Amino acid sequence: MAKTFMPSFENLDELRQHQLKGLQWTVNHAYRGSSLYREKLEAAGVSAKDIRTLDDIRKLPFTTTDDLRKGYPFPLLAVPESQVVRIHASSGTTDRRKIISYTQKDIDDWAHFFARCYEMAGITVEDRVQIAVGYGIWTAGVGFQLGCEKFGAMALPVGPGNIDMQCQFLVDLQSTAMCCTASMGLLMAEEMKRRNLKDKIALKKMIFGSERSSDAMRARIKDLLGLEDMFDIPGMTELYGPGTGLDCPRHEGIHYWADYYILEILDPETLEPVSPGEIGEMVVTTLCKEAAPLIRYRTRDLTRLIDQPCSCGNILPMHDRIQGRSDDMIIFRGVNIYPGQIDEVLSPISDAGCEYQVHLIRKDDGKDYMTIRLECCDGLDASQKSELGLKVQAEIKKKIMVSCEADIVDDCSLPRSDRKAKRFFDNRP
Ligand code: ZN
Repeated sequence: MAKTFMPSFENLDELRQHQLKGLQWTVNHAYRGSSLYREKLEAAGVSAKDIRTLDDIRKLPFTTTDDLRKGYPFPLLAVPESQVVRIHASSGTTDRRKIISYTQKDIDDWAHFFARCYEMAGITVEDRVQIAVGYGIWTAGVGFQLGCEKFGAMALPVGPGNIDMQCQFLVDLQSTAMCCTASMGLLMAEEMKRRNLKDKIALKKMIFGSERSSDAMRARIKDLLGLEDMFDIPGMTELYGPGTGLDCPRHEGIHYWADYYILEILDPETLEPVSPGEIGEMVVTTLCKEAAPLIRYRTRDLTRLIDQPCSCGNILPMHDRIQGRSDDMIIFRGVNIYPGQIDEVLSPISDAGCEYQVHLIRKDDGKDYMTIRLECCDGLDASQKSELGLKVQAEIKKKIMVSCEADIVDDCSLPRSDRKAKRFFDNRP
């Protein structure tokens, strides 16, 4: 039998037992090793012995980005520095960077569950994996590579951008899988078409990280490249890096590695759990992370739990795609809008292309106006375009309950990116 990186739990009870043990370990470890955690736990009047059931997690204090800032450059450190074998930093542009420390066991754990991502995506040791994400201080490149090597497939560490080299490797090395942002995936797919290379490559799968991919975008990439399948991989530096889950080939949600962390979905205002299936903030608690453990860390990422088991039979629970970060929420005429909501409305509209931009301005009348600039499919005439525009306005009104202007533009006329595409332009004062 092939080596598996899946957990060996028979049922959810066993998983929960494992989680409880990990939670108790983490509270104890953080209390002993980190003065910041010790102060927070003491202020909350809670210690490891108060954690008797998983519900007791709610007694624990939250950890925020403020706590990371306070501990700069080694925030949340809970082991002697001599045990730290590596650091990574987030690409956060505001304030100080988030730097996260790792012990060798942290690195090994990360490699193990990242290998699980490749396994879930149906990659085999025969696959050649072209890794087109950022290498360096970031967790992306090294994470994808570590997981790939642990899994046993062949890693091709090309890094981001460099489209000529990407094309050359796809043709000469016959890469069968590619890891990149969805924006880069779209760029590559269109480039393959332009260069007429589709029949010369062997690409079967793509794994998209660090950016939300819309259904429309995935459909276009799949079609242009003739792919078998595509997967979303979530992750953040604070929680090891990318690879903390993957949607399985059934695509009913993103299985997340509940044997490595507990995920709570909370209302960002009240910090109480949202109703099942409602959108809320992802709050994570690690179960075996040594150097920088997380206790109820508020990620600011928004998603919902999928409330039913996956038809694939894997018991690992699922969350939905990330809707965006709570910091990215825009308030337009009194309505809260998350970036992901816009692409969920646009994606199913027939004749809509896959790239769009949202522009917000304030006019002289003091009111805010939204324009959605959307690419249409190739070959639409003027009347079909205006019909599409009306459809966009009607759907946005119906599903997000705001009015907008729609500006329908030609296929491939909006900018493309080999990293993350910028789609929201808030030009209000
Ligand atoms: Zn599944």
